[in-house]
Amino acid sequence: MSKRSFSTRVVHNKLNQDTALNSKATPIYQTSAFTFRDLDHLESYYAGEVPYSYTRENNPNTDELGQTVANLEGAPSGVAASSGISAIMAGILSVVEAGDHILAAEDLYGGTHQLITKQLASFGIEYTMVSFADEQSIEAAIRPNTKLLYTESISNPFLRVENIENLVKLGKQHDLRTMVDNTFATPYLLQPYTKGIDIVAHSATKYIGGHSDVTSGVVVGHEELITKAKQRIIGLGTNLSPFEAWLTQRGSKTLALRVKQQSHNADQVAQMLNEDDGVERVYYPEYVSERGKGAIVTIELAEKVDVEAFFKSLGWIKLAPTLAGVETTVSYPVRTSHRALTVEERNKIGINDYVIRLSIGIEEAEDIAAQFKQAIHQSIK
Ligand SMILES: *Cc1c(COP(=O)(O)O)cnc(C)c1O
Repeated sequence: MSKRSFSTRVVHNKLNQDTALNSKATPIYQTSAFTFRDLDHLESYYAGEVPYSYTRENNPNTDELGQTVANLEGAPSGVAASSGISAIMAGILSVVEAGDHILAAEDLYGGTHQLITKQLASFGIEYTMVSFADEQSIEAAIRPNTKLLYTESISNPFLRVENIENLVKLGKQHDLRTMVDNTFATPYLLQPYTKGIDIVAHSATKYIGGHSDVTSGVVVGHEELITKAKQRIIGLGTNLSPFEAWLTQRGSKTLALRVKQQSHNADQVAQMLNEDDGVERVYYPEYVSERGKGAIVTIELAEKVDVEAFFKSLGWIKLAPTLAGVETTVSYPVRTSHRALTVEERNKIGINDYVIRLSIGIEEAEDIAAQFKQAIHQSIK
């Protein structure tokens, strides 16, 4: 890994494919295939001497994105996929197959919960979900066919910060692979691979892309596992399109700037809302890294607040079932990310009708807090 700092590396990630014209920005290779002069030239692709043949298998833009995120995470290898969920699926399937068992944290992102409990289970992949806050409950759930420990570095929506060192230790002790979804933390705040995690996945739809204009994912890790993940992406057809890879890559250049400002704002907003009597509770991590605590703040409104009225009073802050854009947005876990869970499943992890997730943007912290306070006070019953 390069010794240059993160903020420098993030703007200089480029594959330099275009040696003919030396374009400053990487061109978009918006092509489904690459041509060959003759049969010898074609053979040279299979010999590994020519890099590109067919975009579902390989494309300069998707390669650039995979390598960019690998570089930021300090991992040797990375591959892009059509969404965060398909990156997570490829990462999981680089380790498990039918008959194997995944041991996962119970407070996973709703879509990943569905992926494991509905999709992968229907192909014969077993799972157990337990509280990862408790080491004993993890150890007690390990089976002879367990292959993978799966969790998120910062959980959704309550922002529990995973004990990565502990997970690495458990994985080593029991000869299990470890995988972490690092979407909420971003490599700016945390780099789980450098702590010993085998596979790190991102919904690049969120902070890596950062502008809410693209759906994409990346999975990084050991060369051997990422090669397998890539085979899954090619075989299952969950590759990312060149244009979306290009957009994500373009967004990634400001990752450090954005997350720095967003984390700073989130810290301020969390403090200001904590002092508001319309807010029952503020969830915001005590510590994530020396660079900040992330840009997601979850609040539980007081019972005296009319939740429907709150959503109607937010002014320039929009309700959107996503996070991590440059604009501050709010999401309602009961109706969005955790909608597919049963009421019992939601109650078990503490998601009730008053829980609102805030994704803090790059605006002025004072303006963000003032808009939230105004919405809360207009909605007191
Ligand atoms: C959004 C998200 C995903 C899924 O990503 P998509 O790009 O929507 O497929 C996975 N994990 C986390 C933590 C997310 O926020």
